[in-house]
Amino acid sequence: MAASLAALLQARGYKVRIRKFDPYLNVDPGTMSPYQHGEVYVTDDGAETDLDLGHYERFSGVSARQSDNVTSGRIYRDIIAKERRGDYLGATVQVIPHVTDAIKAFALDESDDLDFILCEIGGTVGDIESLPFMEAIRQLRNELGRDQTLSIHVTLVPYVTAAGELKTKPTQHSVRELTSLGIQPDVLLCRCEHILPDNERAKIAAFCNVRKEAVIPALDAESIYAVPLQYHAEGLDDEVLRGFGITDSKEPDLSRWYDIVNRYHNPEGEVTVGVIGKYVGLQDAYKSLHEALVHGGMAHKTRVNIKWLDAELFENEDDLVTKLEPMHAILVPGGFGERGSEGKIASIKFARERNIPFFGICLGMQMACLDGARNVSGIENASTSEFGSTDNPVIGLITEWQSKDGTQLRDDDSDLGGTMRLGAYRAKLSDNSHVASVYEAQNIEERHRHRFEVNLAYKDMLESGGLIFSGMSPDGRLPEIVERPDHPWFIGVQFHPELKSRPFDPHPLFASFIGAALKQSRLV
Ligand code: GLN
Repeated sequence: MAASLAALLQARGYKVRIRKFDPYLNVDPGTMSPYQHGEVYVTDDGAETDLDLGHYERFSGVSARQSDNVTSGRIYRDIIAKERRGDYLGATVQVIPHVTDAIKAFALDESDDLDFILCEIGGTVGDIESLPFMEAIRQLRNELGRDQTLSIHVTLVPYVTAAGELKTKPTQHSVRELTSLGIQPDVLLCRCEHILPDNERAKIAAFCNVRKEAVIPALDAESIYAVPLQYHAEGLDDEVLRGFGITDSKEPDLSRWYDIVNRYHNPEGEVTVGVIGKYVGLQDAYKSLHEALVHGGMAHKTRVNIKWLDAELFENEDDLVTKLEPMHAILVPGGFGERGSEGKIASIKFARERNIPFFGICLGMQMACLDGARNVSGIENASTSEFGSTDNPVIGLITEWQSKDGTQLRDDDSDLGGTMRLGAYRAKLSDNSHVASVYEAQNIEERHRHRFEVNLAYKDMLESGGLIFSGMSPDGRLPEIVERPDHPWFIGVQFHPELKSRPFDPHPLFASFIGAALKQSRLV
């Protein structure tokens, strides 16, 4: 919702920033399982954040920052640290005003050059954890004034099939709950599976004390890319501007949205990409990857069918061949831990031997190095220290690296939360490499989230097995990209290019990978 509204405001020429409040107690989602919380989205400045920030970035094109996502855990951590330092000078530290002040400060931080700040509160109205956030919003509305703030409430209008009826009661109840917290919504965005008839819209307006035009039906869209156009057609941005007393805004320029919707809904080709991972049961675990593959397809007006395949099933050769043979390309994404790793390595071997386009991301690149080490260079038991001690740590813990804040040091005893090599780092690409031609550049900057790294002690052996180190950190100490020049498309990257792909600006690696899959689809 916030991402689509931001897109509509931008299309009218406004500068926007979107922020996410997560009421849970983790300091950030970095330590949460992708099964609990979906993917962890990493920003340029190295924050591990909620996956919604990925949507915001893809829809608004504005790179998210650490200051765009906050949790109760982080707010309490900072307040308690201040209390221990004695910063409160003897005061009793309380939810109101200390926690609410911190939330308000977060909402308004770094906003000088903006026209609008959109703050989204996670969870559901009535959650115990979100109460301080609601209270902070109530205070903020009071302090900034009604003409400077607006509340949008997203509600559900369920359809009861047996009765053939839309039910407006849940919306009435959640609005009542919200008003009891002191927040009267100005706009209601009603998620519904069926068209909201005029009389139901009027009923919601009357019971919830909002204008009828401000009851915006939000039917399930054909695709997420169609949502901004749909909300605009229902009048969301007009209503929002009206709430701020802005009556002279020009019509939004939505041409780029029409273009991507057209590319997405009217494909001229089709490819099937197999993604071999561990968290394949929950698509949100690979949200940015999914979107980046779609963007790669948009670049070629091609539909990308993604087959999510559980790496653990590929430890048996027969299954692997039947499942992977129909694929036009194979991708092994990032991940953590040993489970499924043998299946990933076997899939990479299959892609290498059959000349099927292969893309390895982060753990996927590390597994491509283990395939090369074991199956081409003959390094027995080649493994990664992530999976336990090994005689041949082709992948090892990064113990030292250079960041914008100086030298970073880590060891086996370091905390797990927030201690990976995180955020944007530059890399240098080798002349005449495949990646240099894909990027059409010599220097790139990509986002990282990893603790382990290819061990340079094995570089010569891997290279003599045909796996070339074509991208390195600027100091030459960390391998960032490997590729096989004797293969049509075989690239492994230590970073997460999917985090920077946008529908209007597909990432070059994904565009090129889907191009290679298209070529492959014409061969088979
Ligand atoms: N587990 C690997 C590491 O920490 C890869 C991480 C990832 O794929 N994001 O290096």
